[in-house]
Amino acid sequence: MKPTRPGTVSNHVHKVVLDRKTRTSSAQLQSEVLRHKEVLKKKAETSRKIQRQLAARDTTYDIALNIIDIISLERRALFRRDAHQKTPVAIAESGYLVASPVSPELAVSFRTLEYFRRLRLRKASYSVEAYAKVLCDLYGLPYRRRWRTAISDAYDVYLGILRIVDKRVMAYLGRDTPNWRVKHACPACNFKLEGEEDLGYDRICCMDGNNSLKRIAKIGDREIADLREFSESDYYLLAEYVDRFKDEVKRRESGDAEDDGDDAWTDEEDGDADEAEGDPTDFAGADDMLKQCTKNWKSAAKDETKKMWGIFDETGVFAGACRHGFVLWVIDMVRSGELAKYALALVAKALDVFEDRILWGYDIGCTFNTTIAQSSLGPEFSRRGCRCCVNAFHGYSHSHSCQTINHPSVIPGAGLDDMEGMERLFSSSNELAPVTRYASKYHRRMHIDRHMYQWDEDKYANIATMLYNNLRQAFDILAKDAPVVEEWLQANGCTLADLELWETEEKQYFATVGKVTEADAVAVEYVSRLKDYWRLQDETSATMSAFVTSIPEDYTPAGLVERTDDAQYRREASQTLKRETDMRLLREKCDSALRDVIALELQLGLNAASRWTPTTPKFIETAHFLADRDYHIALERLQRLVVQRLFELHTMNISHTAYKIRTQIAKSLQRRSKAIRAAVTAYNNAAKALKNPRPPLDWSKVTHYAFLEEFELLRDTRNDLAGKRWAETTTRPIIKKARQIKRAREEIRRCNTEVRRVHSWVLQENTELEEAVRKCRDERNPIYGALGDYATRRRRVNTRLLAIIARIHVLPGFSGHTTPGAPSASSPETEAAEVRAEEAELQGDLQDASIDESDLAAAASVLEFTTNLAGT
Ligand SMILES: [Zn+2]
Ligand SMILES: [Zn+2]
Repeated sequence: MKPTRPGTVSNHVHKVVLDRKTRTSSAQLQSEVLRHKEVLKKKAETSRKIQRQLAARDTTYDIALNIIDIISLERRALFRRDAHQKTPVAIAESGYLVASPVSPELAVSFRTLEYFRRLRLRKASYSVEAYAKVLCDLYGLPYRRRWRTAISDAYDVYLGILRIVDKRVMAYLGRDTPNWRVKHACPACNFKLEGEEDLGYDRICCMDGNNSLKRIAKIGDREIADLREFSESDYYLLAEYVDRFKDEVKRRESGDAEDDGDDAWTDEEDGDADEAEGDPTDFAGADDMLKQCTKNWKSAAKDETKKMWGIFDETGVFAGACRHGFVLWVIDMVRSGELAKYALALVAKALDVFEDRILWGYDIGCTFNTTIAQSSLGPEFSRRGCRCCVNAFHGYSHSHSCQTINHPSVIPGAGLDDMEGMERLFSSSNELAPVTRYASKYHRRMHIDRHMYQWDEDKYANIATMLYNNLRQAFDILAKDAPVVEEWLQANGCTLADLELWETEEKQYFATVGKVTEADAVAVEYVSRLKDYWRLQDETSATMSAFVTSIPEDYTPAGLVERTDDAQYRREASQTLKRETDMRLLREKCDSALRDVIALELQLGLNAASRWTPTTPKFIETAHFLADRDYHIALERLQRLVVQRLFELHTMNISHTAYKIRTQIAKSLQRRSKAIRAAVTAYNNAAKALKNPRPPLDWSKVTHYAFLEEFELLRDTRNDLAGKRWAETTTRPIIKKARQIKRAREEIRRCNTEVRRVHSWVLQENTELEEAVRKCRDERNPIYGALGDYATRRRRVNTRLLAIIARIHVLPGFSGHTTPGAPSASSPETEAAEVRAEEAELQGDLQDASIDESDLAAAASVLEFTTNLAGT
């Protein structure tokens, strides 16, 4: 190749001369011309050098490939490759990734993959296919399926690379110790400071299972090719860990009067005997209240029964999160519903990793307390003072008596937390469902892992705002409700202590209401048999008289044969024959009932002469008991149906509930309406039969949310609510408000603590990151670029957090610290920080004095952050 043409140089110089002629002196001009000549000479030299190098390079290993690049939209590119280089490496150096390392045909650019990753993080359901189609559109090509495969394969590799890079960044920052993520992700929960006040519970978390992230075991006859396990996620508790708890709770035999023959329209349990592992409620049996909650919980889950377990491999996930939404751990539910071992494993892991007293919100939290107590975790769980409660909005599936104990609004220390964090997490992860359902085991888990990661990033960015809103909500409650309560107390001459006393009375009342008094089991049986016998006796005599008046005078069964030609006669005779059959059958039934009655009379020491009649006092007493029992059965059944209906309405309203599911629910709601109508009729009959008959219920009234509390009062068949202050309609809202005020005060105290934690954490992290980046740069560590990106992103989010914290500090009524605090001595951060500081000292002695400057710079940047805040 020729060197740069001289003519070009002189032309250029000439142009410069002309341009500047009028403005510059000749001496200046001279020197400028010379300088330009020099520059051009150097350029020409460099160019010649490159040409020489290029000529020397062996281009036989270069490789031309079809490419996909969202920016350039080029279709083909020539990749430089040297003899010693592997193809994928050479291509990666040019910013492309090949789908197949062996014989690559199509290379996808990193930026194309990064776009896809970003899209996916924001829209989990966005599929590879959709992206491939978009790319084809941009290229102006018809859709090519091969592109989808190439992008999908390259994307896996890309994520793998990113994971390695992430790992190295985290390792460089010392954030790769076991459980680092869960111990640090949420600064509001984890970054404990010196001199904090006791909040009762150190940590508020919630847990739940969800069925939407299922995965089909096998599609048709297609064998699954991808057998890899995705084990790199630190969100996942692995099956081996979970299975340690599989023998803690054995499945309870479901024979215990559980099934009162209702719900004919639902899928009945198929009584699969080899399902040996228990669910979280399998210890509830003894307690009446818990039994009721368990029934509701089970029937809510009934739609997702074992039927689906055959089709799906993973049947969903069980997960836990802190009150700020950060995910603790995720567990795959495998070929099962929500088993006790999943929840136990989660609680066990938390007991392991944290030293805290934790309040757990769980939709079957009431019963699960008993389950934990009976498991191997029981002693430690209670030593720490941990407990479970139910979620605020799902509380309605629990009996009122349960809510007086387990609803977060009555638990001291719970603050205003609604414990519905899992609902929010799952409503976001539901988006993943279409992607995971047909994915391989590996991909499903990878998708879930990435989703949780993004979720946590969002929670981190939002944490200060969440605390801000919680504080404002608490301030609002105090401003609105406190004067109302105060006024009422004054007007009625009562004190807060009275309200508390009434609350306790309510608790005690509901602990006993609805419990039927014990009765003599034989007597109960006797009375119901006696009633059966009387009914059959009446029926027999009625049938008998009907028979006698209807038979023809010349009737003999044998006569039928002889007069078969007479159609009229034949018809009548056949009816008569049927009546005779019915009559004999009734007589036999009646005889059998009498036998039962006599057998019971022998047990009771009675005989035919002393047989009870409807006027025998013992008969009346037992009959009342029976009516009472029937009434409670009818009431419970009605209540359960209504709760189920509300559950379904709730599910219907959740966004992203698939259309198909909605349709299914709508159908079952129709069926349920019928069932509820029937249950209302049954209730009304039972209510009429009571000793103190109850007014009938109206179906349109019972199906409303507001009616749920009424159910509890209906359970009182003793009619002894009179004179109970807590039951008065004017008192109840005041008790509720007073309770809410207490929770609001707790919330404020908790938020104050948490705001300071986040504040201190953010400042410390910024300093740490800055130091790490500087050190990495000085060492010329190859991770510098990735670390820098991470630190920049993180610090930008931190700046935002600080800005919001500054707003919190000026909220009217804010009573927390506005200065950051020192990490508490027990916190591992302090130790680690001390070790780091000591290492820095040593390093400083060995090296020159530049350390002092970096310390100064760090301090300056902290100052800058905080002063910038003051301006916002
Ligand atoms: Zn938290
Ligand atoms: Zn309950």
